[in-house]
Amino acid sequence: MIIKGGFVYDPANGVYGEEMDISIEGGKVVEESRDGKEIDALGMLVMPGGVDAHAHIAGAKVNCGRIMRPEDGRRGIEPKTKLLRPQTGYTVPNCYAVGYRYARLGYTCAFEAATPILESRHTHEELEEIPIIDKGALTLFGNNWEVLECVRDGDLDKLAAFISWGLSASRGYGVKVVNPGGGEAWGFGGNVKGIDDPVPNFGVTPREIIRGLMKANEILRLPHSVHLHTNNLGKPGNYETTLATLKAVEDIAATRDRQVLHVTHMQFSAYGGTGWRDFESKAPEIADYFNSHAQFTMDMGQLIFGSATTMTADAPLEYGNARLLHAKWSNHDIELEESSGVVPLVYGRKMPINAIQWAIGLELALLTKNPWQVIMTTDHPNGGPFVNYPEVIALLMSRAKREEELASLHELASKRSSLPSIEREMDWNDIAIVTRAAPAKILGLPEKGHLGLGADGDVAIYDINPTDLDPSKDHSKVKEAFAKAKYTIKGGEVVVRDGEVVAVPQGRTYWVDASVPEDQAAKVKADLVEKFAKYYSIQMSNYMVQDAYVTHPRVVKAGVI
Ligand SMILES: [Zn+2]
Repeated sequence: MIIKGGFVYDPANGVYGEEMDISIEGGKVVEESRDGKEIDALGMLVMPGGVDAHAHIAGAKVNCGRIMRPEDGRRGIEPKTKLLRPQTGYTVPNCYAVGYRYARLGYTCAFEAATPILESRHTHEELEEIPIIDKGALTLFGNNWEVLECVRDGDLDKLAAFISWGLSASRGYGVKVVNPGGGEAWGFGGNVKGIDDPVPNFGVTPREIIRGLMKANEILRLPHSVHLHTNNLGKPGNYETTLATLKAVEDIAATRDRQVLHVTHMQFSAYGGTGWRDFESKAPEIADYFNSHAQFTMDMGQLIFGSATTMTADAPLEYGNARLLHAKWSNHDIELEESSGVVPLVYGRKMPINAIQWAIGLELALLTKNPWQVIMTTDHPNGGPFVNYPEVIALLMSRAKREEELASLHELASKRSSLPSIEREMDWNDIAIVTRAAPAKILGLPEKGHLGLGADGDVAIYDINPTDLDPSKDHSKVKEAFAKAKYTIKGGEVVVRDGEVVAVPQGRTYWVDASVPEDQAAKVKADLVEKFAKYYSIQMSNYMVQDAYVTHPRVVKAGVI
């Protein structure tokens, strides 16, 4: 295939809007493709396929969200066609809709952000049913008993061996940490109040858990860093906990060319105030810190007005949400590993808190100078559904659009955030970074997020001529074009044409196989045999994700050399 004449934005390779051809052969970008099928991209915007580094798209809690929300299932219904399976849902779409809708946006890869090992079979059953895109899942480690014990005993090599085992058992890609220690405390109706508050029965603190997991992550040289949902997330005043957390790990160095820590959906962790009455943005303080600490990255967790379904391993947070909003609530204790909760809610333009939250996400993205440090997400479906990414892109590119939106919001969004004073407008290159190049780099996917030789043949073509469209003024055209890719090409195959899905190949599932010395693996195995016999409700042999659950794997090797 030869994609001819488009304006190419490929920031990872220093290509900024050059008119050039892209050749793909055998699913990969090559120097020259002979007799290739031609795709006419003349006068259009060409970027690598989009990469979503954080979304909740598969597994037990997503399915719980669907069950709790029959009203959501009535939205977004599209009947089956000769090619496509039926689609349902808006905030919690069914598996087919997840794949089709990402492809229509020009996205070719998305990662499920949280799977407990115990429920990973379910996660993979759903990932298998998501068509077109490549995917992976981050495995939860922050409240696992084995982790807490290794941290208590100061045994980092054993902790690394357990992570290796856990990634293999869950066919997981990286180390996700959610409210470390808080999920364990929730088993007794409690929580941890900050990074130095000890976890009941274990005596370890969140600070020690985060540091231990980060060090073990680096011992294993994993492609992705630790991916952290901070303590006190979602609470007024929590920016202090967030900054204290970052300061607590400044001395830890990455063993690979990437960040040492990714803090996820930062919007929910950048709050000032002593309560909801004086709630305010502290995004400038967080962005300032990132501007002088290049070793950390974050994603926005942008809020989208309308329905959302919040779902998280931060179970005490969901209890608080349900009480505050008098909302439906589900709560789940996942044996020795985590707890979790689901709460559907609606974000309102005239609700002061929601309006300020909306501003905070945008402030974070616009005040952090280096776009490689702050990638675009809505924490789907916590901040809102991923189908709204084109809205976020338009907001980042147009101050006029932000002003129009601010005028329709509760006035506190302007008074308690710095957004009205921010002049910055992202350009096409910034957008290519925050939606594809940086998420691929942050996840550690060398074949994604760029169009250099050897990259996956994943390309998005949008019906935008960047030389004659002014995104600052024509923001509605930007939004429209990003919502329906002219072409999405996945592995050298056209999967979307004129905004419609035209082919449904099966994507691959990334997981990390990290090796550790045999004696360390044996120590962990001995512990686990005992834990399964004493505490787990299932047998160890019924626990591991078997190969049959991952039919198109892409195994990434890592480990102790
Ligand atoms: Zn999330």
